[in-house]
Formats: sequence, C-alpha cells, structure tokens
Amino acid sequence: LFVDHPLAEEQAVPLTKEQAHYLFGVMRQEVGAFVALFNGRDGAWAAEVVEAGKRGGVLVCRALDAPQMDPPDLWLMFAPVKKARTDFIVEKATEMGARRILPVQTQFTNSERLRVDKQQAHAVEAAEQCGGTFVPEVCALQRLDRVLADWDPTRRILFCDESSVGTAVTLEGLDPGPWAILIGPEGGFSEAERTKLRGMDCATSISLGPRILRAETATVAALTLWQMAAGD
Ligand code: SAM
Repeated sequence: LFVDHPLAEEQAVPLTKEQAHYLFGVMRQEVGAFVALFNGRDGAWAAEVVEAGKRGGVLVCRALDAPQMDPPDLWLMFAPVKKARTDFIVEKATEMGARRILPVQTQFTNSERLRVDKQQAHAVEAAEQCGGTFVPEVCALQRLDRVLADWDPTRRILFCDESSVGTAVTLEGLDPGPWAILIGPEGGFSEAERTKLRGMDCATSISLGPRILRAETATVAALTLWQMAAGD
C-alpha cells in the first residue's frame, strides 16, 4: 500500500478514509495483520495494523522488507493518445522503471488534455501492483518545442523516429548517463520536429523495427530496449 508518510522503525502511520476502506472493508484486514507499505522514498516496510476503523486506522512499521530502490535515471516523454492508451503508457512506464513521465504536446498531438492527478494515481497503483518501492513523477503536459528549447544536453534523448523504419535497431554501447525516451503521437512527428531533434547532439534517433507500432507498443518496446542496453 502506498502512503504519503515517512516510514521508519516503529513509525506510526495514520490511514486516510479511502485507505481504511480498502484495507479493512475490501481486503478484510484486521488488527494484528501485517501490510506491506511504501512511500516512494523509504523502502518497503512490513507494518502491523494497530487500529482499524471505518474512517481511518493506524499501522506501525515493524521491519524493513526491502530497501529503497530507485530506477536508473530514465524519463519517458510521450505525446498523450486516447485516454485508455495513455493510462496504459503511464502504467507500463512505471512497471518498466521510468523515473519521470513527461507528457509532451507535439504538433500532431490530438489529445491535448491530461489529468495529472489521475495519471499520478495510475502510477501509484502500478507501483503497488508490481511491488516497486519507487513511484515516478508524472509532470503536467508541456509543449515539446518548449521542453527542447530548455533541454539540458547532459541528458541524452532516445528519439523513436517512425520515419527511420527499416533501419536496424542500434542500441549497443549505450552510455548509462541520464536519458529520456521520446515517443510521438498517432500522427507521428512533423518534419520540423524531426529536423530539430536530428540537429540536437544529445539526441539519438532509433528505429523500433520494420513496422509502425502504436504509441503504447512503441513505448514498451523502447523501454525494454533501453533497459537491456543501459538499465540495471
Ligand atoms: N502516423 C505515423 C506514421 O504512420 O508514420 C505513426 C506514428 S506511431 C503510431 C506513434 C509513435 O510511435 C511514433 O511517433 C514513434 O515515436 C513511435 N514508433 C512507432 N513505430 C516506430 C518504429 N518502427 N520505429 C521508431 N519509432 C516508432
């Protein structure tokens, strides 16, 4: 269970009404039960239920189950697609160990609204589900041209360019330094965006194989390739 509260030996952790409902109403946990807690910073803890009520409850951290594990410094930048597919992208990026999820509005992005709070909640759920101790930060939607204008060149960009389809996937020897994967919208990148990215020394353009993939498939493929080449 994710809690927004410090976790440490014998630390008491109060539950919100929603968490109490989930733990005691849905999961039928009672006083004396042990629950795995994490907050994205202090590792995973085995915590004992000491108070259980309809509107709240208290858990006490008894033992550290797993130390904090932060994923490698990888961001995912993607152009939001339809809602269910955007949800999928956020969920998979969390499971695959992205540190930050940065939605970008490109020239051909056709979905321009994104509820950051909802997507952050998806990231929390995905981290809970996969037993991770880390939750990526989901940022507000930003324009790609502005993001690139302020780009710190020490972070390399893995530019997934559908127009390079047919060229081999070349990710061998990728340096482990900070990276950001960039995935375009359903309409692909514009020529101006492609020219800008190809002109950036810190950007490497790659093909994900001979077929055009949906944005969410491309996201999972790129994250997998990056993890194989440079992840840990
Ligand atoms: N409408 C575009 C077209 O027909 O060329 C396709 C866009 S694709 C659905 C969405 C995004 O996934 C692309 O912008 C790119 O970032 C990524 N992508 C999909 N297939 C790819 C491939 N084979 N190689 C590299 N990137 C790919």
